[in-house]
Formats: sequence, C-alpha cells, structure tokens
Amino acid sequence: MFSPSTATLVFFYFFADLFALFPPPPVTNVFSDFLSSANWNDCQQPFAGGSFFDHEGLPYCETHYHQKRGSLCAGCHKPIGGRCITAMLKKFHPEHFVCAFCLKQLNKGTFKEQNEKPYCHQCFDKLFG
Ligand SMILES: [Zn+2]
Ligand SMILES: [Zn+2]
Ligand SMILES: [Zn+2]
Repeated sequence: MFSPSTATLVFFYFFADLFALFPPPPVTNVFSDFLSSANWNDCQQPFAGGSFFDHEGLPYCETHYHQKRGSLCAGCHKPIGGRCITAMLKKFHPEHFVCAFCLKQLNKGTFKEQNEKPYCHQCFDKLFG
C-alpha cells in the first residue's frame, strides 16, 4: 500500500484546479517547467482528473508512480492497490497471476516456471513433462 502525503496532494489539487480554470501561458516559470518536464516526458498525458502522485519530489500519473515504485501488475500493467503476488521478481494482481497456457489463476507456490512464464502443474507436465 502507499499513502502519498495529504498535504502534497492538496497542494497539487489546488494547482491543477487553477490550471484548469486558467491554463498557464507558455512562459517559463518554475512550476510549469516542473510539471511539464516531469509528467510529459513520462507518458505525455495530462493528469487525469487533476490528481497526481509525488515520488521523490516529482509528480507522476498513477501508472508511472507505481511503475517507479515497482508496484505495477506484470499481467495488466495497472497499479496494484490491494493484495499482490510477487513471483519471478515481478508483481501481479492475484487474479492476473495465471497459467501462461490455460490462463487458470495460480497461487504463489503452486506454479512451475519455464522461460520466465508461470504454468500450472497440469500444463507444465503436458508441455514440458
Ligand atoms: Zn505517466
Ligand atoms: Zn493486473
Ligand atoms: Zn495451465
């Protein structure tokens, strides 16, 4: 789990609202530089809903925030907020940690690995046994 500091979020919400009402002119100022360099370089997306996450002093969209923190699901590439399975040095939503062949949901500890892909025991035996 993560908990970005409330103060930081409130601060950013404030500016995001301000920018929505009065888009910043294309002049160089420290804050818009900060915004454009940090976010736009990463995914070229404006912050959806005006919210973003602070990581090491830079703003990120939710996806890149989790990417920086290594908490993106290797299955669906979306942030993992709740339960998480760590396997093969990757993280997964429990429902996205599935057999690479039959797509049945796996539990950590009950899978076999081949070529960096997880398989259930049945498929593993069938394919590689
Ligand atoms: Zn991003
Ligand atoms: Zn997932
Ligand atoms: Zn399988």
